[in-house]
Amino acid sequence: MKFQNTREFAQQLDAQDELKHYRNEFIFPQHEGKDVIYFTGNSLGLQPKSAKKYVDDVMNDWANLAVEGHFYAEKPWWDYQERFAEPLSKIVGAKPSEITVMNTLTVNLHLLMVSFYRPTKTRYKIICEEKAFPSDQYMFQSQVTHHGYDPKDAIVEVKRREGEHNIRLEDILAKIEEVGDELALVLFGGVNYYTGQVFDMKTITEAGHKVGANVGFDLAHAAGNINLELHDWNVDFAAWCSYKYMNSGPGNASGCFVHEKHHHADLPRFAGWWGNKKENRFKMEPTFNPTIGADGWQVSNLPVLSLAPYLASAEMFAEVGMKKLIKKRNQITAYLEFILHEIDNEIDGTEFEIITPSNQEERACQLSVFLHGQGRSLFDYLMKNGVITDWREPNVIRLAPVPLYTSYEDMYEFGQRLKQGIQSLHK
Ligand SMILES: *Cc1c(COP(=O)(O)O)cnc(C)c1O
Repeated sequence: MKFQNTREFAQQLDAQDELKHYRNEFIFPQHEGKDVIYFTGNSLGLQPKSAKKYVDDVMNDWANLAVEGHFYAEKPWWDYQERFAEPLSKIVGAKPSEITVMNTLTVNLHLLMVSFYRPTKTRYKIICEEKAFPSDQYMFQSQVTHHGYDPKDAIVEVKRREGEHNIRLEDILAKIEEVGDELALVLFGGVNYYTGQVFDMKTITEAGHKVGANVGFDLAHAAGNINLELHDWNVDFAAWCSYKYMNSGPGNASGCFVHEKHHHADLPRFAGWWGNKKENRFKMEPTFNPTIGADGWQVSNLPVLSLAPYLASAEMFAEVGMKKLIKKRNQITAYLEFILHEIDNEIDGTEFEIITPSNQEERACQLSVFLHGQGRSLFDYLMKNGVITDWREPNVIRLAPVPLYTSYEDMYEFGQRLKQGIQSLHK
């Protein structure tokens, strides 16, 4: 499609957008009486209007039923997480039994590593991406140290080549082969948080299995953003937070995937009563008897107030379906890219370098842009003028035009404010 940098053209795209009604399902912060332009749904998704009702239902059941709510609430609390199996299995390409929801992301990755990172004297190394999200780095270091290995030896990062912003698949595969018999686990992001690069999880999983390693993914920036086929790709395990693209609210519960092939394997795990079979959970028996399936990794009583808004959002995602989301995602991201190039051409002294891969297989919703020649003052200007973006050192802004609730007109309007900002700061 041939894009144009005009308000009329953007409005035309909005009129044809089959997801346009969903924008009304969300609450936007206001700037001078208007919705802000929100580019940080990859950090904290907006609040779906339906979330409040789901939370209120739990509050009302608590008020009216108290302890009886565990079994007699409209959505009983004791197995509340089971309601996620259907909708989330569609979002991440899994079987319902492979899904559970609990805790938060880093906690879940730690718990899953108990089962899937089981180093031996000869096979103890972990392969991950260079500059993984800090929480993941701390996790790797503490896991490796906990098992008595030296992080410098046991953690192998796949690096970017000199002068390149993204990691090449061929380099990931070569590293997996090189570490070979010493490789215990590959744990990669599905989408890199800084650059927005999407990794080829199917190929990475095959390569890891070929040398005898387990393969898992941190899907923080992938769940609700990209097409996932976790079951068919034969991924061993994965986890994601729900408050980024999946709009569940600050710090809310995380999703987990454990492949069906491990459900009967009697893997070691850190157990708790909520992972015990439902039939005898409250018999308070001394021996742990895990639920078969991902629910067997549950530990504690469910944080129902944190699950409630996530359920509202998960049901909305299942209703829309990833296919439509991805279709709009590709088009609106391409339109944003076009707008950035247009504005860059219109003004002297700027150079916007998009470090996110330009091919559609390797990118999703996010564009990370190096603002050469601009400083933090531009980011501050945008924030003051109703454009919420995210600033990363040295001078990168990350823009996520989330397909569920951003409009093409937002992209056009962003371009205008960006231009005004640069012009007013360089007068
Ligand atoms: C956001 C993010 C996290 C956050 O983890 P929490 O435990 O939910 O705080 C972890 N890993 C990646 C890759 C992320 O993007």
